[in-house]
Amino acid sequence: MLCSYVFVQSCAPPAPAPELKTTIPFQITISEDESFLTVIFSESMNVDQIITVNETVKTVPYKTIENKINNRFSNDSLAADIYTLVKNNIPFDISFYSLDSTVYSQHTTSIIYTLNEKLIDLLIAPFMQKHSQPDSTIIYPLFSKKPSLPDLDAVSGLKLFLPSENVSVPTEALLLPNAPRTYRNGIHRGIDFYVNWGTPVRAVASGVIIRADHSYEEISSDFRQQLLKETKQLGRTPSDVFEHVLVGRSVYIDHGFDLVPGYRAVSIYAHLSHINGEIKPGTIVSAGQMIGLSGNSGTGPSTRGSRKGAHLHWELILQDEGGEYYLGQGFKSDLLVNYLNEVFD
Ligand SMILES: [Zn+2]
Repeated sequence: MLCSYVFVQSCAPPAPAPELKTTIPFQITISEDESFLTVIFSESMNVDQIITVNETVKTVPYKTIENKINNRFSNDSLAADIYTLVKNNIPFDISFYSLDSTVYSQHTTSIIYTLNEKLIDLLIAPFMQKHSQPDSTIIYPLFSKKPSLPDLDAVSGLKLFLPSENVSVPTEALLLPNAPRTYRNGIHRGIDFYVNWGTPVRAVASGVIIRADHSYEEISSDFRQQLLKETKQLGRTPSDVFEHVLVGRSVYIDHGFDLVPGYRAVSIYAHLSHINGEIKPGTIVSAGQMIGLSGNSGTGPSTRGSRKGAHLHWELILQDEGGEYYLGQGFKSDLLVNYLNEVFD
């Protein structure tokens, strides 16, 4: 077993007889993946050793907590924010390891403790929950009048193709419209569909291409960080940073005024790794037509040369004379999931 921590090892006085059992009188190890804690001793434990064991089972499994959070988010900056919050709020005196089994051998006794994963899930759940609550910092358009949200009637009959063949609408509020995006001090306007790198992406409805970044080049990690710092100073995501940097290699499709009566509808397909050659501004596409492949362009990992965090960010923008809105804006998250499932049915 690989051991990352050895807390106490052989504090016995020099043994005259080189008998095997005296070489490991008392040892505590935690496996590298943090899932097991093993206590090995011979004969019996003294009071100090018992106290040491009781303290060691309270070791915080930081790596596991971080992995669990990272696995839930495609967005590494958001995951890092939540991890910091969880880390700063770990209650004092929690035993993360629970007794599992005892193994006796000729000279030693081993007590195995396993990591209590349910406890960790309970610990991180409130922070996940909190971060799925919408607040009010949206992406502001460069030019806008007073927006008043489209009412439900305006979008109730909407039917769209899913933007990838074998995906479904995620149920996690954090992946849906209205979720906070603290890394850019803004609000998520779209849906993050979990798809592998290189998954074919298609038009959700017919329309005309108005943007297709065939010659997109990834920006540097430092420049991206610098822009994100500016969003912090502003307390919001300005539209230029969002449109020109954070969406990465993107396709925008103008669906005109027919898709959602009374509004001009534009769909956005972000973070692509490839755009099909025929997809150019002015090209008319039909519903379900392939436009490119998913990727992670415009994300933090991409600026560091990694393919981590690949997903398809899709959103539908609605505009009227009053301003600009996104599909799902202002919806409560439980209603939103049902609504989106009907739209993509
Ligand atoms: Zn997204």
